[in-house]
Amino acid sequence: MTTILIVEDEARLGDILEEYLRRDGFVTERAMTGPRALELWRAARPALMLLDLMLPGMDGLEVARRVRAQSALPIIMLTARDEEVDRLVGLGIGADDYVVKPYSPREVVARVKAVLRRTGGEVGVPTLQHAGPLSVDTAAFEVRLNGEALDVTVAEVRLMAALARAPGVVRSRAELLSALGGLERGTDERAVDAHVKNLRRKLGDHTELLDTVRGVGYRLRPEG
Ligand code: CA
Repeated sequence: MTTILIVEDEARLGDILEEYLRRDGFVTERAMTGPRALELWRAARPALMLLDLMLPGMDGLEVARRVRAQSALPIIMLTARDEEVDRLVGLGIGADDYVVKPYSPREVVARVKAVLRRTGGEVGVPTLQHAGPLSVDTAAFEVRLNGEALDVTVAEVRLMAALARAPGVVRSRAELLSALGGLERGTDERAVDAHVKNLRRKLGDHTELLDTVRGVGYRLRPEG
C-alpha cells in the first residue's frame, strides 16, 4: 500500500487526482491547506506528496521547505505557469518534479510512478533494506550501521537506498544522480562523488562497505 498525499485547495482538482491515483492502486490522503499538509505528512507517512504551489495560509513553497528540512519525501509540485517552474528550480527547494496546470491526471500518475521508481519508494519494494551491517529505511529516512542511526542528509539516504536495493551491483554515477531526484541541480556527476565521500566519512571504520569501481561507479560490499 503506497500512500500519496494530495495537497490541493481546489476540491475538484483534488477529487480528480484522487480518483486516478486510486484507480492505479494508490491510497490517498487529502489536505487543502499548508498546515494540514504538514500534519498529514507526519501522521500518514505518505510515499510521495503532490503539492500545489498556491495554498491558503501557508504556500506550497513553505510546505516544501519544511518537509525538506527534515525528510527525503519525494515531492511533485503542481504549478499554474511554466515560468514558475524556472523560478522554483532556481530557489533550490528540492522538489523532484514539476507539473504545470492544466495537467492531464494520467500524466500526473505517470510522473508519480516515475518519481517513486527513481527514489526507491516504488510500490512493492520494501522500504527497509539490509546490506551486511547496514540498513536503509526509505520510509523513516534512516541509515543504520550495526543498529546505530547515522547522521545523514536526504541525498545520502537516497544514495544508500539506491545502492542497498542491490548489494554488490555496481551503480553508475548517472544512475545514482538520477536517484537523487530533484535534490541536485544540473547533471554534474561529481555531486555523487562528493556525497559518497561524506558517506564514507560517516561510516567510520566501515568505509570498505562503499566500494569504488573505477571508471564505472559505486557499489555496496556488505561482506566487506
Ligand atoms: Ca491552489
